[in-house]
Amino acid sequence: MPPARWPCVRLLRRSHSAPVLVLERFSFGVGDRFAHQAKAQLQAFLQLQSQGVQVIPVWNKSNREHTFIGSEPQSVRDAAQSAVLHLKWPHAWHVDADHIRLQTVDRFLAPSDFFTIDVADSIGQPAPADQVAAFVKRHPELAGVCEIPGIAKPFVITAAEVARVATQYLSAVREAGEIFRHIASRKGGKEGFIAEVSMDETDAPQTPPELLIILVALADEGVPVQTIAPKFTGRFNKGVDYVGDLKRFRREFNDDLAVIRHAIARYGLPANLKLSVHSGSDKFSLYPIIRESLGRAGAGLHIKTAGTTWLEELIGLAESGGKALQLAQEIYAQALEHVDELCGPYATVIDIDRTRLPSAIAVRQWTGDQFASALRHIPGHPEFNPHLRQLLHVAFKLAAKQGRRYTDLLKANEAVVARNVTQNLFERHLKPLFLG
Ligand SMILES: [Zn+2]
Repeated sequence: MPPARWPCVRLLRRSHSAPVLVLERFSFGVGDRFAHQAKAQLQAFLQLQSQGVQVIPVWNKSNREHTFIGSEPQSVRDAAQSAVLHLKWPHAWHVDADHIRLQTVDRFLAPSDFFTIDVADSIGQPAPADQVAAFVKRHPELAGVCEIPGIAKPFVITAAEVARVATQYLSAVREAGEIFRHIASRKGGKEGFIAEVSMDETDAPQTPPELLIILVALADEGVPVQTIAPKFTGRFNKGVDYVGDLKRFRREFNDDLAVIRHAIARYGLPANLKLSVHSGSDKFSLYPIIRESLGRAGAGLHIKTAGTTWLEELIGLAESGGKALQLAQEIYAQALEHVDELCGPYATVIDIDRTRLPSAIAVRQWTGDQFASALRHIPGHPEFNPHLRQLLHVAFKLAAKQGRRYTDLLKANEAVVARNVTQNLFERHLKPLFLG
């Protein structure tokens, strides 16, 4: 990757009461659902560092995950902290309160220093007409031909379009401001925190001109957003590759990078503002596109994964054989029995063809290697089964129900599990994204 034109810390033009913790150019979100793999995950970042690229680990876990597992946010920090100390990680690291809202943020305040402010539910709630009119009046520069360096075809945005987008997104932006100020008023210490705004869990993707208008509104609202997670075009199913038009994604991603650069320069947003890709894990065909685009633009990136590590735990247990394999097979059998219940909350982010799911009886006959090959995400491998993988991705709740039985087997087979966790993160994620 070419040398970064990444800014040094520049103070925000806008004054904020809250101290700002600055997120570095490259950061990568990992999920550690059962708080047993932080060390194995951090090993992958160390391997990358030994090859000359520094990427900051961010441990993310949403309120939904905590609720399903019955864990508390502090456990994420404790596991990460212990890995950092153990491996003597010399750089920054963060704990992300993922997809929090005003109703759920409080228990994340103490252990988190990164907050993903989720305002997707307010998107589309029409903003009051007077606020929309005031926004349009305040920003006459948005209407007309908008030439942004790096974008081949200038945007042509009418005043009516600015008003339409403002109507659709101003309530969400206001909510982001409200949540940001709530966090800021409670995390008043010197250490500060990182604010991300996420709009990905909604139906329609945001186009680059819409992203520009949203960023302008966030600047007006005084939210020092360091990462923004739009919804991109295409499908981001859980734990499997991207489904969509790669050319279109490339154009959209590059235009978004240009919009962000422009919004920083023109509207005083934090100089390190960058895109956050909520990947749903394992969007392998996007990685080379993202790497090239970042290199060309000298841009930063936050990319979030979740669940890819939990599946490596299952792979490691299967490979370990004996009781560990038996538990992996049982979890699959239970997942089949509860397929509707497990898939319900994730309906928009999974695509399972149930006729392609092997029977529980068949899976019970599998060797550990067969189980691992069906689950391990190696596209093109003859035994890889993306349907089984997606089902198990959303089945972590069943492992949580096993309590100590599950975590004791993780401990007993730590070496095999850890090897899989580290290799997956390094070889299949960090390397293609940052080394090529
Ligand atoms: Zn998300």
